[in-house]
Amino acid sequence: MHTQTEKLANPSRTIETIKKYGFSFQKRYGQNFLIEPRVPEKIVRSAGIGPDDCVVEIGPGIGTLTQYLAEAAGEVIAVEIDRQLIPILKETLEGYPNVTVLNQDILKTDLVRIAREHNGGKPLKVVANLPYYITTPILMELLEGDAPIDTITVMVQKEVAQRMQAGPGTKDYGALSLAVQYYASAQIVANVPPNCFLPRPDVASAVIHLDLRERPALAEADEKKLFALIRASFGQRRKTLVNSLKNAAGLSYTKEEIQAALAHMGLPENIRGEMLTLEQFAQLTGELEKH
Ligand code: SAM
Repeated sequence: MHTQTEKLANPSRTIETIKKYGFSFQKRYGQNFLIEPRVPEKIVRSAGIGPDDCVVEIGPGIGTLTQYLAEAAGEVIAVEIDRQLIPILKETLEGYPNVTVLNQDILKTDLVRIAREHNGGKPLKVVANLPYYITTPILMELLEGDAPIDTITVMVQKEVAQRMQAGPGTKDYGALSLAVQYYASAQIVANVPPNCFLPRPDVASAVIHLDLRERPALAEADEKKLFALIRASFGQRRKTLVNSLKNAAGLSYTKEEIQAALAHMGLPENIRGEMLTLEQFAQLTGELEKH
């Protein structure tokens, strides 16, 4: 059994471990390792992980968060891209037989197969201190893909967490808010300052918990058209919705058609995209398609 003092989540154990292996941080992989035990504890609690859960961890690093996940979960599959870290993980996770480390890119990882082989096809819980350079592609892949996932609990840049959670009429509201909220309900569960990581990132961080909906928020919506409309609406934030949409690449609505659709919905013709809810964007997609 591992005692608290043996865990990696502190500066001295982290430095000792990376020195022992001559590890050098790779900026291109977004490597900032946790060195404060309260953070992994909070992540495990917020993710609601229990002995029946199979957890996929993206980017275990030297295994800091992995140790906490392994103690709480039934099984952990940790997917790490950096080959240098594999021998380190072998040592730091030696006492945790329920962890499998895969040396691969999460964007090329077949999570459907992992769910099938490790969890009888039942939904996975995804947990990560994400590499910030690919936060959005990873999240969109998890949300839009076919893998059975019921929750995602991840550390991201604070600003990105705020955008994911934001509602209409706020400065953070945009295409990312709508994309995330279409698939999940989002809640920021912790703010994490730069001094909790080695090396220190330049930005503040936050942990966000996403509870995935069994079906998207709008089951009957034409997703492709809806998201094309949303992207165009936020492409030039300071323009009115009519002006953003009438010239948008890939859309072919005239100014008159857009004005008529807005009028039909009881919305003013000078409204900006940032005021519309997800349901209103869906309704607008339907109105425009009628013509
Ligand atoms: N989980 C560790 C912790 O909290 O201390 C490390 C977190 S660090 C912010 C991000 C980790 O993701 C690094 O170990 C990095 O090598 C890994 N990583 C980066 N890109 C990845 C990818 N495409 N697939 C899998 N892992 C990746």
